[in-house]
Amino acid sequence: MVHYDLNGTFDEVINDLKRYHAKDFGFQSGRILGSMCTAPHPIARDAYMIFLDTNLGDPGLFPGSKQIEKQYISFIQSLLHAPSSSGGHIVSGGTEGNITAMWVAKQITQNNEIIIPNSAHFSFQKIASLMGMRLKPVQLTRMFTMDVSQIKKKVTQNTAAIVAIAGSTDLGNIDPIPEIAEFCDDQHIFLHIDAAFGGFVIPFLHLLGYNVPTFDFAQDGVSSISIDAHKMGYAAISLGVVIFKEKTWIDEISVLSQCISSKKQAGILGTRSGGPLAAAYAVSRYLGIEGYKQVVQACMQTTKYAAEQIKSIGLSLVADPVMNVLAVKLKNPSQVEKALAEKGWKVNTIHHLSSIRIVCMPQITKAIIDEFIPVLQKTCQELKEI
Ligand code: PLP
Repeated sequence: MVHYDLNGTFDEVINDLKRYHAKDFGFQSGRILGSMCTAPHPIARDAYMIFLDTNLGDPGLFPGSKQIEKQYISFIQSLLHAPSSSGGHIVSGGTEGNITAMWVAKQITQNNEIIIPNSAHFSFQKIASLMGMRLKPVQLTRMFTMDVSQIKKKVTQNTAAIVAIAGSTDLGNIDPIPEIAEFCDDQHIFLHIDAAFGGFVIPFLHLLGYNVPTFDFAQDGVSSISIDAHKMGYAAISLGVVIFKEKTWIDEISVLSQCISSKKQAGILGTRSGGPLAAAYAVSRYLGIEGYKQVVQACMQTTKYAAEQIKSIGLSLVADPVMNVLAVKLKNPSQVEKALAEKGWKVNTIHHLSSIRIVCMPQITKAIIDEFIPVLQKTCQELKEI
């Protein structure tokens, strides 16, 4: 029998929770350098608490939350230049966004092969296993993006979808989406864009004058896009949105629902809190396009600064950063990751690129980079990396 002591007064329980919480690294500390999630914007915290006890899965009981859902989806549709025929669905993040999109692709094509870049997030492994689909990975070019000539060789009668990435997990790279979209449009192939990370970066890079590929519905060939508010959307965990070019496709993943106030329910989850949605909605209204542009500008400036500092201590990068993601080449990245963690800094190892990943999220400032670089330098000297 597992022994579990439940007893505790209100204060005891809260104090225990505070002790557990103190063990967490926490984004606000600035010591988490490897995660794509963010310290939520302050308005996200307040908004989350107001909607703590709401259920988006039961819209008849929570019509106010439902209204926010509609408004937030409209914001994302406009951000991604989605056509008026489009529709959206709130998800818990990038994994659910990708699963939902592939579920739709499977339903409308009745096929089961997914062509993905080698850089695709591991959620596609889950998709293959869950839905009995087959992944057909495509090699990357020397620029670490999907090789379009290889995509064409992988297409068969059984292709359900091609996936391209707008902000890869390892390097923040963008696949050549305009070219891929043109091909998919010609061949009538479902194209899903995984913009979990880049969806809240690329639109603002364009506004800031950066020369990066377009990735959204402005191109006819794009069928769906998933985007995460809990990454560069500056919102609280867990919130993402998946937008489909045709709203009617959402019917393909809807079932009749009894015992709740709506007749039909779409998507994977049932009961789900309106808290993360309210948080994301609040941040989007408070920041607006101009605010997000400034956030991305600051992240890019920090990234540039971090890249210079990393090079100045004798280390090099796997590739020039396209967005606010850096991969530092190392002989033994796991050892460096472990040593940095012992000193209170959390980075992520990317084994296949023999590197550690640093993501300059909004809470990572130049001052934090200034604190980190001497620690990285000392660690790398101790481990004979430099
Ligand atoms: N897609 C990409 C490109 C990602 O980088 C990630 C996570 O980092 C995901 C999907 C999965 O997102 P989540 O962890 O929110 O499910």
